[in-house]
Amino acid sequence: MARCSNCNAPLPDGSLLCAYCGDRNDIDLKGIHYYTTHENNAPRTCPRCGIHLKTIDLKLRGRFLIDRCGQCLGLFFDPGELEALLEATVSNVFLIDRSGLDGINLHRQPDQYPVSYIKCPVCSQLMNRVNFGVRSGVIVDRCKAHGVWLDGGELRHLMEWMKLGGKLLDQERQEQARKEEQKRESEQRRKLAGYSSEPSPFDSFGDPLRQSDPDLFDIIYKAIRLFTR
Ligand SMILES: [Zn+2]
Ligand SMILES: [Zn+2]
Ligand SMILES: [Zn+2]
Repeated sequence: MARCSNCNAPLPDGSLLCAYCGDRNDIDLKGIHYYTTHENNAPRTCPRCGIHLKTIDLKLRGRFLIDRCGQCLGLFFDPGELEALLEATVSNVFLIDRSGLDGINLHRQPDQYPVSYIKCPVCSQLMNRVNFGVRSGVIVDRCKAHGVWLDGGELRHLMEWMKLGGKLLDQERQEQARKEEQKRESEQRRKLAGYSSEPSPFDSFGDPLRQSDPDLFDIIYKAIRLFTR
């Protein structure tokens, strides 16, 4: 369990606010050394606090710049950067810890902010709320053009989710959904094409009102029609 860096009291899962001393703990970037580089020349604005974000360099595989609010410790990532950061910091996960993922949100603090749409730090348009991944419990705020906002504590939570195989579970779900979609499509095609997937000499006489698979009745019915033409 993480502890408050100020008073050493235990911090609840995924929470950066200490309930005892009220200190805000930088749990997201714990273990990651970073350098504050500069304030962006085209300043970006924290959607929570309204102050300018600072650009920091995480120095992962060279330069890796993200924006951070020094007050609420929220983070803003350009498109694709969050995924790249998670890949770079959490690797070698080959198993899905299903019970771990079941429990990942049990002891989590309720969201520190009320549910609402917040503005993109770059263009000020309201961002979309998107579930980051199955069972992550993290809803990120995303501007399609500019990137993704994470409130303080959410990056740490996503890292935990990755370690438990959350991303693998997400890929598994997407694969399942893709297969089901393919199955539905091929059934649809079969229905449109006629009674069965096997081409049959009777297909050209198919009665479009009958949707079921061919049975003995169909075959006799079609044979009769064949001979009575
Ligand atoms: Zn404290
Ligand atoms: Zn802020
Ligand atoms: Zn934007």
